[in-house]
Amino acid sequence: MNIKANISNILNDIDEKVQLVAVSKTKPTDYILEAYQAGQRIFGENKVQDLVEKSAVLPDDIRWHMIGHLQSNKVKYIAPFVSLIHAVDSKKLLIEINKRAKQHDRVIHCLLQIHIAQESSKFGLNEDEAIELLEMNLANVSIDGIMGMATFTDDKQQIRSEFKSLKNTFEKAKNKFHKLSILSMGMSGDYDIAIEEGSNMIRIGSSIFGSR
Ligand SMILES: *Cc1c(COP(=O)(O)O)cnc(C)c1O
Repeated sequence: MNIKANISNILNDIDEKVQLVAVSKTKPTDYILEAYQAGQRIFGENKVQDLVEKSAVLPDDIRWHMIGHLQSNKVKYIAPFVSLIHAVDSKKLLIEINKRAKQHDRVIHCLLQIHIAQESSKFGLNEDEAIELLEMNLANVSIDGIMGMATFTDDKQQIRSEFKSLKNTFEKAKNKFHKLSILSMGMSGDYDIAIEEGSNMIRIGSSIFGSR
């Protein structure tokens, strides 16, 4: 596997307005360094402990994204350094992020996770709940956009329609909250569809680092 080639293949494939999050979860730090040497600076992890451990030993200019489900009691561990939290899915979590950000005298950037998949197991807010969080206007969090995950299925039409619905929610919310700018959708198997449907941030793991 050639991490550098995988990254440049993806970058060649996408518009420069689309940001690439290299999802390095479960992968060792030398894989991350290889991607770093290819110029990649944004990495995503889905476990707090991995984020903490990897960020401690890797270059300081890496922007670490928390892409997984985040428990309120673990926010404190990533609050000093996390660059973007993708999956805010409750008021309680947002309030905790705000509190910890304030303690570190910083603003933590967040996305709201919207439930779009058919599976009931996936986390996420509905549109009204998202609007409610956007209206809170907390001083130490900045809600920059929304994120979603499509159903795990081979049915491309279904995936497309779920991404369309997320894009629709994004546009609606943006009309009201003008600073929203990030629409995080698309993974290795579906990022082409996601970009066609308006994604500007894709989260790619296996197509860069190999299967897990
Ligand atoms: C693992 C993960 C990804 C990347 O998945 P791949 O299919 O390996 O590209 C993207 N987003 C989230 C939230 C993930 O947990």
